[in-house]
Amino acid sequence: MNNLDLEKIWSIVYRNLQYELGGPVVNSWISPLIVDKFYAGVLYIKAPSLFLRDWVVNNYLDLITRFCQKENKEIKSIEIFVSLVHASPSEKISIKTEKVEEQRAKPGETATFGIPLDPKFTFDNFVVGKPNEFAYAAARRVAEVDTVAFNPLFLYGAVGLGKTHLMHAIAWNIKTRSPKRNIAYMSAEKFMYYFIKSVRYKDTMAFKEQFRAVDVLMIDDIQFICGKDSTQEEFFHTFNALVDNNRQVIVSADKSPSDLDGMEERLKSRLGWGLVADIHPTTYELRLGILQSKAAFCSTKVPEVVLEFIAHKITTNIRELEGALNRIVANAVFVGREITVESAKDVLADLLRTSDRKVTVEEIQKKVASHYSIKFNDMLSPRRARQVALPRQVAMYLSKKFTTLSLPEIGKSFGGRDHTTVLHACKKIVKTLEEDSSLAEDIRLLSDIFSR
Ligand code: ADP
Ligand code: MG
Repeated sequence: MNNLDLEKIWSIVYRNLQYELGGPVVNSWISPLIVDKFYAGVLYIKAPSLFLRDWVVNNYLDLITRFCQKENKEIKSIEIFVSLVHASPSEKISIKTEKVEEQRAKPGETATFGIPLDPKFTFDNFVVGKPNEFAYAAARRVAEVDTVAFNPLFLYGAVGLGKTHLMHAIAWNIKTRSPKRNIAYMSAEKFMYYFIKSVRYKDTMAFKEQFRAVDVLMIDDIQFICGKDSTQEEFFHTFNALVDNNRQVIVSADKSPSDLDGMEERLKSRLGWGLVADIHPTTYELRLGILQSKAAFCSTKVPEVVLEFIAHKITTNIRELEGALNRIVANAVFVGREITVESAKDVLADLLRTSDRKVTVEEIQKKVASHYSIKFNDMLSPRRARQVALPRQVAMYLSKKFTTLSLPEIGKSFGGRDHTTVLHACKKIVKTLEEDSSLAEDIRLLSDIFSR
């Protein structure tokens, strides 16, 4: 087999792999491979690093072998070896993906190095609200300018609030605008994994080279390397080398740089040098906005009241919010049940229990007192004047509704009253609600506060 034969075979195999494994995988793992030669039944292939070689051997060698043998029976086996000196593009037996590179990157393809990006995590799919508008603006800015405005961009916030989504969105945006820029996105865990592998195989030069060649380095969940000293050390050097060369670094964490316990001081301070943007816990409005935007893509129509219900009840994070919506839709599709607030309650029963915030009697007393402009003490006092008695009864009713306390326990919290007083209050409110629309409105407003 001459070089031309090899080139032809490899280009067919390459296309088959793209079809079988998808663009992202092939771009990351297969495109760096170079076919070297064919000798005595063995097809020799060069890989640029040990890490890549191992990964390909462990994950794709069987498939590659199968595809190669399909093209030429003489190929008995494949040998992938590490060659740090890669042939220049003109010398390569072509696996070059010119066509792919010329095209603008689209969601579905991947960063050149690092781990694949989620095609759903784009700026278009990111709903902006008060809690995340700053982080969003910062992310957009990094994504849209070629000069480095601030380095690093440090995004932080609790789990499930959109850090990874924003990082992928930045990567997609840069890839689309300037496909030639070399972007590496990975979790801090992956970074450590690459690093440890390189140490183990005495391949740290390749590691350094690979990381220092990127234009944009994104490390997600950096808190992972807290307490991992040598990884931190290596990250610190990589970070400095990139920043010194005016390459953009973007980092995310679950805490602010100064709160990263177990992180070296010099690294903490370096991480805080650029722009630090936090994502706050969600608000009701943002949750509803996100649900509306996700519901628009659902196969089944989800009534607005159900979205409002979920937005009220699932307050932990956006991942759970999405999970709740998916469950409701899946249930409707599989069980064929109509989507209502009632059915949503059933489907989400376990989630609702855990995310239910504990409302206390005292909180209710305070809110009700302030709603009716009376003193908190009037809730506990023996006074029976109507202007304090009614609010007190409302508070008792709400305590029964929003806490799990028994009637005697509630009575005790209202200045040591008897449980029959509480029972009477509850009955009275339920009855009055029907004819008194202003009381009904009061109860609705107050209930809104406690059901959040
Ligand atoms: P984190 O990395 O902060 O833990 P993720 O970025 O993984 O959170 O977000 C969790 C889920 O919530 C993802 O599916 C993401 O698409 C979604 N999500 C987060 N923020 C938003 C937003 N503002 N608009 C739409 N979806 C969001
Ligand atoms: Mg994340």
